[in-house]
Amino acid sequence: MRTRAAARFGAVQPSATYAVFDMVARLRARGADVVDLGGGDPDFDTADHVVDEAVGALRGGFTHYTPSRGLPGLLEAVSEKLAEDNGVVVDAADGVVVTPSAKHALFAALVTVLDPGDELLVPTPSWVSYTEMARLIGARPVQVPLDGADGFRITAELLERHVSPRTKALLVNSPNNPTGRSLTAEEAGAISRFAVEHDVLLITDEIYEKILYDGRSHLSLAAVPGCADRTITVNGFSKGHAMTGWRLGYAAGPPDLMAQLLKVVQHTVGCTASFVQRGGIAALTGPQEPVEEMTAQYAARRDLLVRGLNSLPGVSCSPPEGAFYAFADVRGTGFADSASFAEWLLREAEVAVMPGSAFGPGGEGFVRLSFATSPKVLRTALDRMGRAAADRMQGALADRG
Ligand code: PMP
Ligand code: GLU
Repeated sequence: MRTRAAARFGAVQPSATYAVFDMVARLRARGADVVDLGGGDPDFDTADHVVDEAVGALRGGFTHYTPSRGLPGLLEAVSEKLAEDNGVVVDAADGVVVTPSAKHALFAALVTVLDPGDELLVPTPSWVSYTEMARLIGARPVQVPLDGADGFRITAELLERHVSPRTKALLVNSPNNPTGRSLTAEEAGAISRFAVEHDVLLITDEIYEKILYDGRSHLSLAAVPGCADRTITVNGFSKGHAMTGWRLGYAAGPPDLMAQLLKVVQHTVGCTASFVQRGGIAALTGPQEPVEEMTAQYAARRDLLVRGLNSLPGVSCSPPEGAFYAFADVRGTGFADSASFAEWLLREAEVAVMPGSAFGPGGEGFVRLSFATSPKVLRTALDRMGRAAADRMQGALADRG
């Protein structure tokens, strides 16, 4: 039928994270008092100096198209940031492309490197959009299930088991959504050797780079020996700078790939919003204390949530190393799967979480709880979970008796 969407959409799932966002909004509109630990949207407002810069730009008539690659000042700031923070060397003139969101940078990167039928390796559990982006462009996502018992470690053996002659690229996300893992030098070494040996491109999603705990530092794959000329680094402002609503991100990498990626931007969005880019310059070149302060607060929230989760019967949670999600093992709670656990929690405690199954193989048996929300909300969620768990135990005892 000609009135139908393209056949490849048959395999594309809607976004599981947006499904939870939308469900929470619907329930709240009906008056339900839902505590939302579902989505990863910081409760912090964007820093004042960033807002002031964008508002000033708007007031000053900075309301036109910009060069499609991005404002020269932002390209410079990104190139400097990558060199200083990450040890990644890219020229502002031809190694960076600014995009409306990291999500669009990822999509543009995948469109740039994948032909229909090409395979994209995605270690899972993984953020919900990678596999579906690949499917949207007719490529084949190949999931590489990581083992929770092994700390969701990426190993050469696992990658080797899933590589094929059609493997074009490997997508790595660190710090990781949903597991909270951050890449070790050993894993990076294994990835680099694998990529060189099999001539595979690397796409690295570093959006949670600024949110790391316990003194850890971020490792960028493009800075690992052997990787620079085969890596597209994707990053953005949503998480570290609390700028989700601004939609601002970038891709950086080899100039020939960036020249092709630029065509995707030119033919889809043209350029990123002018005043938003001005805010981005302020975020990168202005004071970084707001970023550090938010991360310190996430660390305290992490401790509060993880402690509370571990005191619930049948739940166990290791502290995440980065990002703002607790990935809790709920296999001991007696529920059939993570979706039934999440449904029960929403019904009985009015607490919204993401079932681990939404993040692909390796995620079943876990639920993801976002702590990009205030300690007060986290305490309420934990109280409610504790009460629901106690009621359930009472109910089970009564049934037996
Ligand atoms: N990557 C990961 C792992 C994410 O969790 C998100 C959050 N939506 C993104 C990319 C996209 O970020 P944004 O599009 O808001 O820049
Ligand atoms: N990254 C966030 C999350 O995983 C926001 C939603 C999305 O873009 O998928 O909840």
